[in-house]
Amino acid sequence: MTTNSALVLFSGGQDSAACLAWALARHERVETVGFDYRQRHRVELDCRQVFLAKLRMAFPDWSAKLGEDRVLDLGVLGEVSDTALTREQAIGFAENGLPSTFVPGRNLVFFTLAGAVAYRRGLGALIGGMCETDYSGYPDCRRATLDAVQASLTLGMDRDMTVETPLMHLDKAQTWALADALGGHQLVDLIVEDTHTCYLGDRTYRHAWGYGCGSCPACELRANGWSKWRTGPS
Ligand code: ZN
Repeated sequence: MTTNSALVLFSGGQDSAACLAWALARHERVETVGFDYRQRHRVELDCRQVFLAKLRMAFPDWSAKLGEDRVLDLGVLGEVSDTALTREQAIGFAENGLPSTFVPGRNLVFFTLAGAVAYRRGLGALIGGMCETDYSGYPDCRRATLDAVQASLTLGMDRDMTVETPLMHLDKAQTWALADALGGHQLVDLIVEDTHTCYLGDRTYRHAWGYGCGSCPACELRANGWSKWRTGPS
């Protein structure tokens, strides 16, 4: 096993794209995995292929470290969950206070499968873009949950496996700043143009911060983070 190697959970969104750059700046060997769980914004799966191809062209040093990409079919997750991310439902808040976009168990399933891939590929770290700072309240994005995931994977596979979450304490403005620090305007431009965040899968409108409906919670976070980063600290 290579200790300086990683598997990035790359969805095709802004956060995981920044994580991928972060991983490439730190690890010698990096692979990527994505999940098709019949999300309404499945367009992100198309974006990830374009993003990877353009990243390779723009950053030859990173391209040399970037290995296989795979997309795992998780249609079963769409079957067992009844949420606004996997069904035609309004995006709002459920009675328990959680957004209707919460897909129960999603990150637990993602990390378990990513752990299985990493085990087979000899990769030591799993990297995800989960964040507690301005997140939507998803309990499986909390670092405490991911500490438990890390412990259970390490025990269950009898191999050291770390779960790295570089965005955990950053807000969306700081995530844009991180991308800028790692790859300059080339990386920022690539994230704007070829990642996807909008829950509704809308790529009709091109805003300064990228494509999206402009009004779903994911678009609002991305747009607010962008303007905060562009205008700087007030
Ligand atoms: Zn949107």
